[in-house]
Amino acid sequence: MLNLPENFKSYSEARQEGFIRLKGLKESGKKVVGVFCSYTPTELILAADAVPVGLCGASEDPISYAEKTLPKNLCPLIKSSYGFAASDTCPYFYFSDLVVGETTCDGKKKMFEWMNEIKPTHVMQLPPGRTSGTALATWHSEMQRLKDVLSRTLQVEITDDDLRQAIHLKNRERKAILDFYDIGSLKPTPLSGYEINTLIDNNTFLFDTEEKIAILEKRTAELLEDYEKNFKGKPSRPRILITGCPTGGVREKIIRRIEELGANIVGFENCSGPREQKDLVDENKDPLLALAEKYLRVNCSVMSPNPQRIEAMDEMIENYQVDGVIEVILQACHTFAIESSRIKKFVTEQKHLPYLCLETDYSQGDTGQIDTRISAFLEILA
Ligand code: SF4
Ligand code: SF4
Repeated sequence: MLNLPENFKSYSEARQEGFIRLKGLKESGKKVVGVFCSYTPTELILAADAVPVGLCGASEDPISYAEKTLPKNLCPLIKSSYGFAASDTCPYFYFSDLVVGETTCDGKKKMFEWMNEIKPTHVMQLPPGRTSGTALATWHSEMQRLKDVLSRTLQVEITDDDLRQAIHLKNRERKAILDFYDIGSLKPTPLSGYEINTLIDNNTFLFDTEEKIAILEKRTAELLEDYEKNFKGKPSRPRILITGCPTGGVREKIIRRIEELGANIVGFENCSGPREQKDLVDENKDPLLALAEKYLRVNCSVMSPNPQRIEAMDEMIENYQVDGVIEVILQACHTFAIESSRIKKFVTEQKHLPYLCLETDYSQGDTGQIDTRISAFLEILA
């Protein structure tokens, strides 16, 4: 059973509505910057008085187009992102004045070279780890380089005051997102994981941060009330934590099905969850340094080593009273696939919880097999 609000909008409806909104903004002279990843310091884009818009590919449709240029054996998220750009079927890409990428995984960083042939694409050189003595200095200078590129391309001056205001606004948005995610820790949860996954992604198609904050605060208050009236003291279904790769592209096939088959997804330890929001930017430091410090702490598997992801998972398993962990690995994503053995060991040997790994892509070919594996896993938890 999925517990969705009456006015629930699907991802494709929200994406569609966003086109019209963005067109209006462009016509009013607003600049748009396309982004892909949790490492992107969107504060710099806001401080440049531009709109950051998420371009991550979550659809299978443009993949065959991407495969004309990119290898078939590549993560579907990268192929979908490039396919939208190359096939000219994404209005968000079309309206972007500049695209910002990062050297996260090899597939993405090499894809950005192709993307740059379609639209100016600035690639931030992300250090491969946090522990070297130069990592922070490198990332700090990349913040400066992005600031210069934005100023030059969008013809704006970005002052420290602009940056401080953007940092403050984004921190407020992070707090609102965290409060919303926190509802999942109530037992039984009044909030469906499918809604968590969809609402946060849908909010990327709103371009007014104050509006996003207001929507999240309203929904969190409604859910708290719903919990007190209708859920408190009732039995709970098995509680699942999702981890691994971003799940926007497998929302129907995996996220929805887990809940239809009898469990509740209570949290996401991935980029569809609080991985980026879970710690704030320090508002009392030099803004560019504070941004560099914050974004270097994002716990993606592209960082080596990455023990902070285990710490985040430990905290979430406890806070969300989790009964089992399901890891989603997108095909050909080496960093998450390699890290998954460590995650399995931690979950099963240290937390003594069942763990399931689902490796998949955006196609529908394996839906039956995925259903069978989820059902068998949920039987262990029943
Ligand atoms: S999983 Fe890693 S590379 Fe992908 S969006 Fe998240 S931070 Fe970026
Ligand atoms: S899911 Fe993995 S392979 Fe795909 S873009 Fe993210 S880190 Fe790269």
